[in-house]
Amino acid sequence: MTIYNFSAGPAVLPKEVLQQAQAELLDWHGSGMSVMEMSHRGKEFMGIHAQAVADLRELMSIPANYKVLFLQGGGHLQFSMIPLNLLRGKLSADYVNTGEWSRKAISEAKKFSYVNVAADNADRNCSYVPAFDTWKLDKNAAYLHYTPNETIGGVEFNWMPQTGDVPLVADMSSNILSRPYDVSKFGLIYAGAQKNIGPAGLVVVIVREDLVGHAPSGLPTMLDYKIHADNDSMYNTPPTYSIYIAGLVFQWLKKNGGVAAMEKINIAKAKLLYDTIDASNGFYNCPVALPDRSRMNVPFTLKDANLDGDFLKQADARGLLQLKGHRSVGGMRASIYNAMPLSGVQALVNFMNEFAKKHH
Ligand SMILES: *Cc1c(COP(=O)(O)O)cnc(C)c1O
Repeated sequence: MTIYNFSAGPAVLPKEVLQQAQAELLDWHGSGMSVMEMSHRGKEFMGIHAQAVADLRELMSIPANYKVLFLQGGGHLQFSMIPLNLLRGKLSADYVNTGEWSRKAISEAKKFSYVNVAADNADRNCSYVPAFDTWKLDKNAAYLHYTPNETIGGVEFNWMPQTGDVPLVADMSSNILSRPYDVSKFGLIYAGAQKNIGPAGLVVVIVREDLVGHAPSGLPTMLDYKIHADNDSMYNTPPTYSIYIAGLVFQWLKKNGGVAAMEKINIAKAKLLYDTIDASNGFYNCPVALPDRSRMNVPFTLKDANLDGDFLKQADARGLLQLKGHRSVGGMRASIYNAMPLSGVQALVNFMNEFAKKHH
């Protein structure tokens, strides 16, 4: 039976990548060592690291005046590092609240800064993206933080906020590399690896150079972007194996047409699933406003929540795994990141159609 894993994260990885990692597990490229056993300062690992950075730069067309950092502490530590490094003596930062993850970023930023919540979608249960002309922006804000894709609510921006001279900061944990972004429009992009890049333990930070080097004195060394930038993310021991696997994923993306090709497939996958939900005569329901539906995380409920258990059990038996919705939302959630093939979404909608027919 073919297994399809719809987990929100840690999430499915390309099978080819796992097979390559398996083939190289005991002996990487004739070195006689596993990547896990290598010194991070040896030429083998330094090469793996440099290649991964170069491939990510190529995939996202990252301009030369941006640093690419491979750090630890997940998306969560970035919630703190961003205000600590980017306030630059300013008193306030703008945040947009579109769901669970932006809420967490906001509550952490409040420990260090006044936070102006420029827009908030809590009035309609975090189910839409507030129109840009309703945002209450502060032109003196140190930066504007937003979450282009809310992994839990399934709300995704299909447009870019225009913030002028105020640096735009984006938590791209769950949609980086799923669609093209013009990196030059951002001050800082960050993404935990475990959704659309690789294994947990690695967070990617892409930051414009002029925003680095403004940390207040007394800040712990490990929280200062400048230390990591000056040391090529090797100030301390980096998560070497996660970086290696992320590098294999970048190679896989390049082989498969890069981000533009991924976007095409992601659009097709999302359309197939949303069309199935919308054509079910209310048997399935997606609570997210049409234009703001995520291509990566598709939350949906069953008309009769008493059927949830049966749905999950039967899906499991078909090899359709980890479809249970987030505890805060209930229902189901299908995460369909880059590594989920169209055939996986096809298998899911076949099952959904059969299940609906049986229980209507
Ligand atoms: C998963 C996720 C995070 C948290 O990442 P950790 O690595 O667990 O700290 C933050 N933001 C978004 C959008 C996420 O999807």
